[in-house]
Amino acid sequence: METYFHLGASERTPPYRFRGGYMGHVRMLRVDYPQNWGRLRELDFGRLAKFKREKYCCNMEWLPGTLGSEGGGHLVTFDTPHFAKAPLLEDMDLLREYLPHAESQAITVIAYLNLHWYSYEFAEEHPGWEQVLRDGRPYGRVRPLYGNGTTMCPNSPWREWAFKLIEEAMRTGIKGVFLDGPAVYPGCCYCEHCRKLFEERTGREPPEWGDWESPLWREFVKFRSETMVRFLRDAREAAKRVREDGVVFINSGAWPNWEVPRDVRELAPYQDFSGAEAFFHLGVEVDPYFQLRTGKYLRASGRPSVVFVHHAQGVWHYLPLQGDEMRLALAQTLASGSNTWTALINGELLEREEAWGPVRDVLKVADEHPEAFEGLEPYAPVGIYVSSETALFYRSRESGVYRRVQAEAEEDLVAKGGAGARISELSEQKATSDALARGEAYGVFSMLTHSRIPNRFVLGPDFRDLQVLFLPNAACLGWEEKDRIRKFVRDGGAVVASFEAGRYGPEGEPAEDDFFGEFLGAEEVHGTFPLEVREEYIRLRQGFGSFRPGDLVPRPTYCLKVVPSEDTDVLASFLEVTGQHYAPLKGESPYPALIVRSYGKGKVAYLPALFGEFYRRYRDGTVERFVVEVIRELLDGELQVEVEGPSSVVCEVYRKEGTWVVHLVNCGGDMKRPVDLVPATGVKVRFEKPEVKKVRALVAGRELAIAGGLVEVPRIDVYEVLMAG
Ligand SMILES: [Zn+2]
Repeated sequence: METYFHLGASERTPPYRFRGGYMGHVRMLRVDYPQNWGRLRELDFGRLAKFKREKYCCNMEWLPGTLGSEGGGHLVTFDTPHFAKAPLLEDMDLLREYLPHAESQAITVIAYLNLHWYSYEFAEEHPGWEQVLRDGRPYGRVRPLYGNGTTMCPNSPWREWAFKLIEEAMRTGIKGVFLDGPAVYPGCCYCEHCRKLFEERTGREPPEWGDWESPLWREFVKFRSETMVRFLRDAREAAKRVREDGVVFINSGAWPNWEVPRDVRELAPYQDFSGAEAFFHLGVEVDPYFQLRTGKYLRASGRPSVVFVHHAQGVWHYLPLQGDEMRLALAQTLASGSNTWTALINGELLEREEAWGPVRDVLKVADEHPEAFEGLEPYAPVGIYVSSETALFYRSRESGVYRRVQAEAEEDLVAKGGAGARISELSEQKATSDALARGEAYGVFSMLTHSRIPNRFVLGPDFRDLQVLFLPNAACLGWEEKDRIRKFVRDGGAVVASFEAGRYGPEGEPAEDDFFGEFLGAEEVHGTFPLEVREEYIRLRQGFGSFRPGDLVPRPTYCLKVVPSEDTDVLASFLEVTGQHYAPLKGESPYPALIVRSYGKGKVAYLPALFGEFYRRYRDGTVERFVVEVIRELLDGELQVEVEGPSSVVCEVYRKEGTWVVHLVNCGGDMKRPVDLVPATGVKVRFEKPEVKKVRALVAGRELAIAGGLVEVPRIDVYEVLMAG
C-alpha cells in the first residue's frame, strides 16, 4: 500500500511559495437557513447575489450542496438521480438556479458538502459505514455529534458514496467543492474496513487506543493520518473527473494534531486551499493573534490559505458576531496573507447592517485594491519551525516535567507557585508534552509578533531568505531535517533552539545522534529544575542588547539542566533554586540559560527552557525582551521595515516586485469579549531603504509624507495597508 509518510520530506512538501495570486484574492461567504431551508424557494437570487457582492465584498460563494444541519447531512439541494433531495426545496435545483445570478456578479460558486454529520437513520440504512471505537461501539452512539448524530469512516464503502456526491455536485456547473469533514475522530477507527487495511499493512491487529510505548501504536497514528490524505486525494480525483480546473479543499486543522489528524503539510498536495477554523468561542479571554497565527500557519503550507470565521456569537449561532470581533478577525486574516471566509448561520440577518457593516468595513480595501493582496512574498527574516512529527509523537522522557503546576496570585497573604501532583498516565504525559510543544511555538510567535519582528512559519524544507530559524521545542526531528538545519547554519544562517529541540527522532524515540552535543552545544542533560512559578531567576553573565551583566530575567517554569560543551559562550545562567517568595537570591547554578556558539559560518543559540510557553501563560515583558534581543543579535543588519508606537499594532510585511506592502492591524482595546477596539494613534513606520520615496495608505486613501525613511501613519481604527516604493 502506498504510504505517504514514506515519501521524503522534500517530495511531500511543496516548496514554500506564497500563492495569493492564484485565482486572485478570494473573499468567501456562506449563508445558511437552518431554521427553514424552504426559505430558499422564496428568495430573489439576483438581488441577493448583488447584495453579497456589494456589501460583503464576496467573490466566492459557498452554496449548500448538502444540508449541514441536523438530520439533513445526507440530503442534497440539487437534482440528481443518485441522492435524496431535501424535501423542503421541492422542485428547486439550488446550485443550477443560483449559478447564473452569481456569475453575473463575478462570484465563483462552490458547494459546501457535509461529510461528517449523519442521522442514525442514515447510518442504519448503511451498516458498516460508521466510525467505530475500540470496544466496537460506533463513535456517534457514544459521543453524539453536536448532541445528535453519527459519523462515517473514510475507509468504509461510504467513501464511494462521498466521491459520487462530489461528482454529481460538480456536474451542476459549479467551480468546486468544500468538504466539511471527514475527520478521523478521537478513539477511532476500529471498523472492519480499517482493521483489514491496518492488518494488510502491518500484519497485526490495531493496537489498544493510546499505548504510547508501543511501536504498533505509532503505526496506527500514522495510519489514521494517511487515511485522511488518501481520502482527500481520491476526492480530488472525483472532482477532476468532471472539471479539470475544479477546486477541492477540506476543513484542515489550525495546527498539527495527532488526535484528529488533518495536517495542512500532508494535505497540501491534494487541495487548492489550506483552510482552518479560527472562531470566537465561548468565554471571556481572547487569543490576541488567533486569526493572524492561523492564517500564517496555513499559508506556510504553500497553498493559498483561508481562515474560517463564523459570523456568529460564539455558540449562539443565530446572532451575528460582535462588530469589532469580526473586524479584528478579518483584518488579521488579510494581514496574514490569507483569503477570508465568513458564514451567516442565520441567513435572515443577511441584509442587516449589524451583519454586513463590519465585514465591509475591513474587506472593501481588498476589493478596491486587489494589487495589495495578490502575488506577495513575505518579508520574514525569522522562521518559526513547525514540526508535525513533534505534534504526532513527542512524549518527553524527562520525568521532571510531569507534575501539575500551581500558580496563584498573592492574595490574602497566601501565595502558591510550584509543582503539584505527579502526572503518571501515558495519555496525560502525551497531553502534557503536546501542550509544552504547542505552547512554546505559540508563545514564540506571540513574542515576535508583539515585538514586530517579521516572521513566518516554516513547515517544510524551504529556509529561503531566512536569517534566523527558531526551533521552538521542535523535539522530534528526522535526520534529513537535522542535516538541513545544520547546513543552513554552516552556510551562515542562525538557529535558536529551545528545550528538547531535536532530542528525539521522527517517531518520538530518544535520538541516538549528536544533535544536542555537536550542534546545540549541550553535552549532557542532568534532568529538570523543579517546576516553579515564582522568585526563580536567570542572571546575565554577559550583556547584549539592552541587558547588562548581572541583570535578572524570570526563570520559565520548564528548564533543563544542561552541561555546555567547552566551545560555547554562556551568556546567562540559572540561579540556584530559592523555592519560596521573598527569599534572598542564591548564587549561580552550574547550568546555563543561554549558550551561543559558532558553527560553520553561522551561529547556534540554545535556550534550555520553555520561554515561549512561559510567555504564553504569563506574558512577561522581560522574558519577551530577552528572547527577542537574542534574535536581534543574530539578525544580519537592520530590519528593512520597523514600526514604532503602541505595540498593540501588529505588522506584516510583504514584497511585491519593487514595492513594500505593510499591513498594520490594531489589536488594541479591551481584549476581552466582547472586544472593543480603541483607535491607535502615534504609529510610525521606518523604511530602511533610502529608495522608498512614495507611501500610500490604502484604507485612509491618501499619500503619506516620508522624511528620513520615517512615515507617520494616520489613526488606525482597525486596519491599514501601506504601499511604499
Ligand atoms: Zn474505519
